Amino acid sequence: MHNFAIVGAGPSGIYAADALANKFPTSKMLIFDSISSPYGLVRSGVAPDHEKIKEVSRIFDKVFSKDNIQFVGGVKIGSDIGIEELKPYFSAIVLCHGASLDRKLGIANENLKNVIPATSFVGWYNVNPEYSNFIFPEPKDKNNCSAVIIGQGNVAIDISRILLKSSIKELYNGLSETDISRTALSELRKYSFRKVHLVGRRGPLQAACTDKELKELCKLEGVSVIISEDELKLSEEEQNWLTQAPKGIQKNYEILTEFAQNKSNNDFELHIKFCLSPHSFIGEPELQAVSFSKTNLSGTPERRSAIITNEQEEITADYAFVSVGYKGKSIPGVNFDDSSNTYPNVAGRIENENGLYTSGWIKRGPSGVIGTNKSDSVETVTTIVNDIESGLIKESSKDLKELLEKISNKMFTSSYLDWKKLDAEELRLGATYNKSRVKFETQEKMYDFLKGD
Ligand code: NAP
Repeated sequence: MHNFAIVGAGPSGIYAADALANKFPTSKMLIFDSISSPYGLVRSGVAPDHEKIKEVSRIFDKVFSKDNIQFVGGVKIGSDIGIEELKPYFSAIVLCHGASLDRKLGIANENLKNVIPATSFVGWYNVNPEYSNFIFPEPKDKNNCSAVIIGQGNVAIDISRILLKSSIKELYNGLSETDISRTALSELRKYSFRKVHLVGRRGPLQAACTDKELKELCKLEGVSVIISEDELKLSEEEQNWLTQAPKGIQKNYEILTEFAQNKSNNDFELHIKFCLSPHSFIGEPELQAVSFSKTNLSGTPERRSAIITNEQEEITADYAFVSVGYKGKSIPGVNFDDSSNTYPNVAGRIENENGLYTSGWIKRGPSGVIGTNKSDSVETVTTIVNDIESGLIKESSKDLKELLEKISNKMFTSSYLDWKKLDAEELRLGATYNKSRVKFETQEKMYDFLKGD
């Protein structure tokens, strides 16, 4: 019998399990996760005010309801159970554990307490158990705070929007009705972020965010968008290129141009700035400003890189949020590429590893939207199917019951049915507090609930 293990119950893991279940209806798929709730970044990454995007979890529920798919929550593969211990039970193990670490800038004073990695902030407001101990540092003046967000990807956009919405309480009361952390929102609502600077190291044609997210941010009621028209000026070469550039880039440029011309006078300001590369954080013990090196762009319009100049610019700020992408970490003992922070692989088969496959951010790097993981996982499953057909991987030799017994003797694990109990409790609490749900804050609290403590 061909049985399969999937490590990570986020989108790529669920899509991989689904594709495997379709190909091997009589095989068994075990999906492991370190926590008792599935869905990965759909639960802990997607912004609380983007509830529509989270609806994909209903499709994921259909996958979990298949008879041959079993969720095993609360097990850390690599520490609770080693990868070598798992191997004899499965024909293939698919590593889909994502990229959960923050990328550092490696510049002076990055460890100041008001310099906050995006992963911590997002994890905190999304009630990711890993960040339950995060403490938001207090500002000097609660009524007049400023923040610099470094990076212009969709995570940077989410952070900017959450800061502004939580500051303009009277217009965005609805935020409290989402599944945002009650602790985080009540803390953030004490402060007024009057100036938020969204800063990119390259130009307006290289902003990493998608147009839908950029537009939503720029259109926030009560917020004046401030963009220098000079910073949007394009060379003739860029103008020509833009006419055939990907639609998303064209739309981003249209949005930026529209808002650069659109002068309004609100108490809250969003400054979008380009060609500034972070140089250092200034202040001791608290952040006072972020110093940037101005950059020039070089290369063809589709492959622009930022070249640092000697000119500097400082932006005064009480907080800096470093949102320059996520970083993956290997399961101990598995071949890993430390420069790309991914498993080196050919169409999902991890190089120089027998029976190990990968999908999602830990395969391709932290890019794409939720749906990107579907085709990514289908590619990996196609490779597995081909490898079975060519005899490269063999049937698993040991009984899965033995493995499951071994694991449950060692620790408390949770099933999909357990998750549905946790889910029902979160929804029940949500109704009590007029929120879409109130999430369990820690893994321990989930266990206590399941054990009936
Ligand atoms: P991202 O899209 O890769 O953006 C990273 C940003 O950081 C870019 O602007 C990048 O600029 C900048 N950056 C990287 N290194 C830097 C450095 N040393 N100094 C200054 N800037 C630096 O990453 P992300 O925002 O973390 O998002 C990850 C993925 O999740 C993306 O695919 C995103 O679309 C997705 N996501 C989607 C949604 C949604 O659909 N609503 C929401 C959140 C996240 P350069 O381009 O110059 O490198």
